[in-house]
Amino acid sequence: MTTLCAEHGISVTGVTKATCGMPQVARAMLDGGVNAIGESRLENIHRLRAGGILAPIVLLRIPPLSGAGEIVASVDRSLNSEVSVVQSLARAAENLGRLHEVILMVDLGDLREGLWPDDLLPAARGIAELPGVRIAGIGTNLSCYGGIMPTEKNMRALVDHAHRVEDALGFKLDLISGGNSSSLPLVAAGKMPSEVNHLRIGEAILLGRETIERRPWPGTMQDAFVVAAEIIELKRKPSVPIGESGQDAFGGKPRFTDRGERLRAILNIGREDVDVSGLEPLTPGVTIVGASSDHLILDAGPAADETGALRLGDEVRFTPSYSALLAAMTSGYVEKRPVGREQFSRHSTGLLAVGRSPILEDIERWPGLRALGYTAAKAELGATGPADTWEKALSPEILPVIAAAQRLTAPAYGALARRVAAREHGPLGMLWISPRPDLPAELLASELASESTSQRPAGNQPAREKPGAGLAGRESPLLEPPSLRSPTGEASAESRVSAENLVFLCLQDAGPTEQAMIRRLRIEAYTMEDVDLLGVREVVRRAMRTAAAGTRGLYVRFDPRCADNGRDGLTNREVHLALELIALSGLLRAFDLSGYTPSGTREIKRLQHFILSVLGKRILSR
Ligand SMILES: *Cc1c(COP(=O)(O)O)cnc(C)c1O
Repeated sequence: MTTLCAEHGISVTGVTKATCGMPQVARAMLDGGVNAIGESRLENIHRLRAGGILAPIVLLRIPPLSGAGEIVASVDRSLNSEVSVVQSLARAAENLGRLHEVILMVDLGDLREGLWPDDLLPAARGIAELPGVRIAGIGTNLSCYGGIMPTEKNMRALVDHAHRVEDALGFKLDLISGGNSSSLPLVAAGKMPSEVNHLRIGEAILLGRETIERRPWPGTMQDAFVVAAEIIELKRKPSVPIGESGQDAFGGKPRFTDRGERLRAILNIGREDVDVSGLEPLTPGVTIVGASSDHLILDAGPAADETGALRLGDEVRFTPSYSALLAAMTSGYVEKRPVGREQFSRHSTGLLAVGRSPILEDIERWPGLRALGYTAAKAELGATGPADTWEKALSPEILPVIAAAQRLTAPAYGALARRVAAREHGPLGMLWISPRPDLPAELLASELASESTSQRPAGNQPAREKPGAGLAGRESPLLEPPSLRSPTGEASAESRVSAENLVFLCLQDAGPTEQAMIRRLRIEAYTMEDVDLLGVREVVRRAMRTAAAGTRGLYVRFDPRCADNGRDGLTNREVHLALELIALSGLLRAFDLSGYTPSGTREIKRLQHFILSVLGKRILSR
């Protein structure tokens, strides 16, 4: 899509709203060449920022009068059609010391948002006077409410409006935004006026279809999203219900054709999860015959047909339409599982012990290590600084085990290890096993900054740009401190751990700020209560699944204080089980037990055994 558009001088904003702002999707779009992300809701925008997306974000749904402050603090650019809303955006932007960009929407007949063409020039003139906002361009939206198609004629009209605005304002507009996915056929046919230089595209990228007739778009795939559910009943039943008929569960009056006895499957998905009419089964010969809130009923062929491949407990997969995708993504009952980047089973053969802790004493000579297939080396901090030493010593086959003695240096080591490990492997998830959510200092700092930004009363504060203004600013809260950026100064996007891939495990206590942050960033967290209820095995399994989803492995941070012989935390045996499960998963890319000073030889031995467990040592080796 982006190549096609680039050939016609068009830049693309990738629209993630059907995925509720899923950061992995935004990242894939950015990898594919979109230069901004478009979103319709602030909740989704916060999710993207917390997920480490630093690209410019455009708010697509025209802003409400009541939300100007938050919008200006959260996004760089918004689509607008009401002058008084732009006025309040301008006031809010001035207060925050920012410049907010607006794209003026023109209604070309679809009758969703947009200024009526007659009102465009006066609106543009008025807005151009306002400090705090800048008119970045004009745009239109078609094929939504009215189903009006983009044509050479209405696109030409858009360009004419743009020229009139430019003449009135005396400057050239950056953007002439010619609509959404439905404008692509015009581009492909070479009929889009050359002045149109921007599109906002969601569905065509996500589902690989043009949106006028929903035909597959050449060169794309239609199964980037798959909805799966399990068969919970599989029986032969008649095709017509038996008894006197009234309304069904949703007030409809169903009608049936008698096709004799059929093999029918019931799946554990329903209208509460998805728009059932938008599901297309991927299994041949299977059709959807009905659904209630929690059940989807499939016809799997004539009852006599024993060749049917379905079995109770099988997963049946469907491709979703746009509305089915939107509903499934929004439903809290549907688990979202990003796939495709995992590469789980690479075994490291070398070990790099980092830090001066007594825990790593003599690691080159630990008896258990060789049996596990590791050779160990130690890294000290060289005169050239930590980054240098590490970069040289690490390779994909080498697993860093970090035990920085001092608590103060631990976050810095952590950020560094993440960066180096990510360089070797790709994006990592983070499993944080600790009695307290001791968030990296940079994360807390930026979160507090964004808190004070959003609570600052409007008007009576000096305008200033706040560096690292948390979710609202351009900096991600999970960005490593600037001093730890790569020497070449590149943004090292790969090293950031997305909040979606950070999981806390075995929490015993969390302060109000930490709790608020966990909620706000939607960090998955398992407390000791969860461990009691679900057991170590299940909690670790769930935590790894979330932390590793869509990544290339895990950075595991382990605070030995979580193991206190079962007083408030885990027993020794539970720790070993958790660490062995991590080892078995093949996901481990770095292990970090920094910031802890063991109290004596016995404790050192205990921690060394923990390290051996996470490297794969079992009581009986197989
Ligand atoms: C949703 C939306 C888009 C993207 O539409 P698709 O059909 O998914 O490409 C573009 N612009 C606006 C204003 C939108 O609301």
